[in-house]
Amino acid sequence: MTTRSVVVKVGTTSVTDESGGVDYAVLVNIADDVVALRAQGWNVVVVTSGAITAGWSEVGKGRARPTDAVTLQAVSAVGQPLLMQAWRNAFGELSVAVGQVLLAPLDFSHRGQYLHARGTLEALKGLGVVAIVNENDAVADEEIRFGDNDRLAALVANLVGASHLVLLTDTDGLLTADPRIDPSATLIEEVTAFDVELLKVAGSARSGVGSGGMASKLAAARMATWSGVTTVIAPARASESLRHALGETPGFGTTFHPRSERLSARKAWIAFAVASRGTLRINQGAREALEHHGRSLLRVGVESFEGSFIEGDAVEIKGPDGQVIAKGLVRVNAESFHEGDDVCVHRDDLVLLRRV
Ligand code: GLU
Repeated sequence: MTTRSVVVKVGTTSVTDESGGVDYAVLVNIADDVVALRAQGWNVVVVTSGAITAGWSEVGKGRARPTDAVTLQAVSAVGQPLLMQAWRNAFGELSVAVGQVLLAPLDFSHRGQYLHARGTLEALKGLGVVAIVNENDAVADEEIRFGDNDRLAALVANLVGASHLVLLTDTDGLLTADPRIDPSATLIEEVTAFDVELLKVAGSARSGVGSGGMASKLAAARMATWSGVTTVIAPARASESLRHALGETPGFGTTFHPRSERLSARKAWIAFAVASRGTLRINQGAREALEHHGRSLLRVGVESFEGSFIEGDAVEIKGPDGQVIAKGLVRVNAESFHEGDDVCVHRDDLVLLRRV
């Protein structure tokens, strides 16, 4: 039995009902699927949204949902245990234990912390426990939050080396138009490339209480497929949704095929997980050396730079036309940038981002 691994993310509109409380029936259906998949040899990690919405249904007393960050963070602290209690009950009916893992962007930025989080998820798997992940909403500052769990789920997929990412939501998948505006909208079953047309399709369609919308799902799918992870956007409330999504049932959900060259976990981490601390603008010669000859970036190739990065920080690398072409870890400090002309970003620490 081969072990395949999937991260399944369930959005706020799917986890909660109209009153904002946890929609237990949805959780039970997902737990059923997860347990059936585990019996087939799948490792499953769940990423759940819904803490803020569930929290407000508890303390809001019917008032309009607040919008300021501090109150929302406090409300998430109320909702997170409600959410976990519901997941625990749903899996408990099937005699499976769950564990809560709350992650913040910084956990992905520091390599040591990143490996530590991976170790914890591995250990939970070893214990036969289903990890239930959410963003650590209660403490992360607004500026350094993910804000949406789609991106978090893509990073978790990369973290655990998942083969699949399934984003369960309140639509049938990615549609050719917003169905509320254009009733003739149809499902796009497969996506092999991220082009301008596709981004237009996604528009900025948002559902009521979730913070993601289709644009953030596409961003997550792009990130995941770059890391070699097959991604499916599928309807959360369909029966056996997760099993259909993974079984490639025709006409069910939108499947994004991974790029053939899988980025190593470390390169995917550099490309998508670490926040950039500066920008290097390079000349045409350096750009060719990077893009066509797989070389390292030398200091002489850098025309200008911005930011106060230090050695080991991630930076974006822009070509002469100002477009971001790569991301990498610098080996120099901004303060002493012009001393010497050796390697500025080594090719082992560099990810080309143009070939999408
Ligand atoms: N972490 C948020 C919550 O649990 C949800 C973020 C999202 O909607 O993607 O309420």
